Amino acid sequence: MTTVDLPLLPLGRGTDPLSERGVDCPGELPAASDPDLVARARAAKEKLGDKLFVLGHHYQRDEVIQFADVTGDSFKLARDAAARPDAEYIVFCGVHFMAESADILTGPEQRVILPDLAAGCSMADMARIAQVEKAWEALAAAGVQDVVVPVTYMNSSAAIKAFCGRNGGVVCTSSNAEVALEWAFAQKGDDTKVLFLPDQHLGRNTAVLQLGYSLDECVVWNPHKPNGGLTADELAQAKVILWKGHCSVHGRFSADVIDELRAKVPDLNVLVHPECQHDVVLKADLVGSTEFIIKTIEAAPAGSSWAIGTELNLVQRLKNAHPDKNIMFLDRNVCYCSTMNRIDLPHFVWALENLVEGTVVNQIEVDPQTEADALTALQRMLDLPGKSHRD
Ligand code: SF4
Repeated sequence: MTTVDLPLLPLGRGTDPLSERGVDCPGELPAASDPDLVARARAAKEKLGDKLFVLGHHYQRDEVIQFADVTGDSFKLARDAAARPDAEYIVFCGVHFMAESADILTGPEQRVILPDLAAGCSMADMARIAQVEKAWEALAAAGVQDVVVPVTYMNSSAAIKAFCGRNGGVVCTSSNAEVALEWAFAQKGDDTKVLFLPDQHLGRNTAVLQLGYSLDECVVWNPHKPNGGLTADELAQAKVILWKGHCSVHGRFSADVIDELRAKVPDLNVLVHPECQHDVVLKADLVGSTEFIIKTIEAAPAGSSWAIGTELNLVQRLKNAHPDKNIMFLDRNVCYCSTMNRIDLPHFVWALENLVEGTVVNQIEVDPQTEADALTALQRMLDLPGKSHRD
């Protein structure tokens, strides 16, 4: 069997710009070199008992995920938190928008904690509420706003979800984007247009490959240009207005690497996330959410070869869990999600030990009006027919 090894560099912070939140924790963090960190995390977790519920996103580091009571994608984790109303503290090992969703879906007495407030998401940060409100006004000025339905990917701030709730729109995940777009297109008759936020790639891949729209019917709204960089005619012709956002991890995978690996590895299966660029998705054998990727690898026969285009912590974990399969990363370079990686053992221990002392640190709280509007958009998603609501 041909083996292409995963890059074996140490876990690093990656190259993405840090979230503009840019705040670190007050007080002293334990040193990363402290040999007792694992024991300290265990002891704090044990002291907190059932008051604590730890959620771990699939893209988290191993050193943190080992303490998760449940692992999953962002929406599954938020729902898992909602299903544990007895847990006073929800420690979310993931990024900021995920902790916001957990706060929206859990009770008012539950506290959601993000161990490092600088764990943002570069994609979610690409659609700021002020930019989106401005775009909405521009769509009104262009005479199309009354036929536009906003759809936002789960990977967006609570403010953007609330915008969709206020304006007749919906939230979607990478598993139900097709159903969400079908729902949106049914809202305003034949003239309906969708404004898809914030990930242009998921929007384009879904509209073109699943709903059959042409690439020409998809236009990109650049929030840094007047009127999104689009003419009135381009807007009038468009069916899907894609916000110019992307995931800095999934956007890196390239079609050339697929060609290169296929030339080297016989019978290679290429499995990618739909946040990847359109030409990558076109060349892949299978496309789906993180949960889909995990299940596909679990069900794959021994000896089969897989190149996976998603975050490296997850790919590395799959490779370790399935030594009988030839699993490789679909990039020439190491590429972790730098903001996911900010949640490390020192931050985790710091958050838990503060809770033991009765101090709630780094609580994520969404204001009541935003929460109510975001819930409207989330509820519309939950009411969609059929597909799973996983991302
Ligand atoms: S992997 Fe991409 S979408 Fe997910 S948190 Fe990181 S930057 Fe955001």
